[in-house]
Amino acid sequence: MKKKFRMTRQRRIILEELRNLHSHPTADEVYDIVRKRMPRISLGTVYRNLEILSQWGLAQKLDLAGNRRRFDGSTDDHYHVRCVRCGEIEDVAGEPLQNLEESVRSSTEFEIIGHRLNFLGFCPKCRHEAEEPLVPPIREEPQSIDEK
Ligand SMILES: [Zn+2]
Ligand SMILES: [Zn+2]
Repeated sequence: MKKKFRMTRQRRIILEELRNLHSHPTADEVYDIVRKRMPRISLGTVYRNLEILSQWGLAQKLDLAGNRRRFDGSTDDHYHVRCVRCGEIEDVAGEPLQNLEESVRSSTEFEIIGHRLNFLGFCPKCRHEAEEPLVPPIREEPQSIDEK
């Protein structure tokens, strides 16, 4: 059973700073910023509060493969695109696809309550910095890419 949520001063400040950041920071990055306002706070406390804020739907915990856990101050339904080279994450503009949920609903016995969708690619910075041609981490036959 969940305990009752209380908005403590610590939580409010953590949430404020998280919402100001649009970089989808890790707990460490949030800690570095929050520490300027609350010098005695510990990384563990920041981490725990980020988890609690996510549990209560005030923030989003992103589970994207290949990265340390990141947090998002925006709880609106939105998709993310992640750079497979540097790990940078950006929001994807546009409306979530509702018909995706419809088709999953009709093909499974699940009651669907939402979905997460992440895109992978190379960010503009990595595209410019790469000296060698960028090779996707998953090898595919060239034909299968062309056919898409
Ligand atoms: Zn990148
Ligand atoms: Zn986001």
